[in-house]
Amino acid sequence: MKERPLIGVLALQGAFREHVRALEAAGAQTRLVRLKEDLKGLDGLVIPGGESTTMTMLMERMGLLEAVRQAVSSGLPTLGTCAGMILLADRIDDGLPQQESLHALDIAVRRNGYGRQLDSFEAELEVSGLEGGSFPGVFIRAPVVDDAGSTEVLASHEGRPVAVRQGSVMALAFHPELSGDLRLHREFLRLAAGSRNGKAPVEES
Ligand code: GLN
Repeated sequence: MKERPLIGVLALQGAFREHVRALEAAGAQTRLVRLKEDLKGLDGLVIPGGESTTMTMLMERMGLLEAVRQAVSSGLPTLGTCAGMILLADRIDDGLPQQESLHALDIAVRRNGYGRQLDSFEAELEVSGLEGGSFPGVFIRAPVVDDAGSTEVLASHEGRPVAVRQGSVMALAFHPELSGDLRLHREFLRLAAGSRNGKAPVEES
């Protein structure tokens, strides 16, 4: 990558600092996104884990829900993790009544779908296209993807999709920013760089 891409990290609530650290370690510049204006000029956006209901409410309050919806639908490369995946989903099976979403990914999710015993767990994941062996997936009250729709499933755990991609939007049910492994952040930076140049992402040697 020639110049460092500028990645916004939605910073209303949740695990945004860890994403900032991972993105910078992976070679990006970052900007905390709290206002509509913060979306200007970004090469990509990360929607972190946290609590999707709270995050949605705060986004609505800040006028960010509609602004982010428009930015993502007009092609801003976006990575959502855990609660971020829920926000990007087209369908939230058991969301709060009227829980809004960005409708950016053709998936149906169930919040906290792994149930009590599996509240938090770690699993080695085979992620398609990712070199260097399996990826340590850290799951914390993760959503279950009930239907991956027309998205490309990049990784599954026990038969359930946990990483999906549709165009320049990627979503993970787990927390790559807590794993100490930067490969998925690097992958997202490639996606962002590829769409900035108006072409498909290419592998760097
Ligand atoms: N269970 C949370 C939600 O519904 C997501 C958990 C997380 O992001 N770690 O938003």
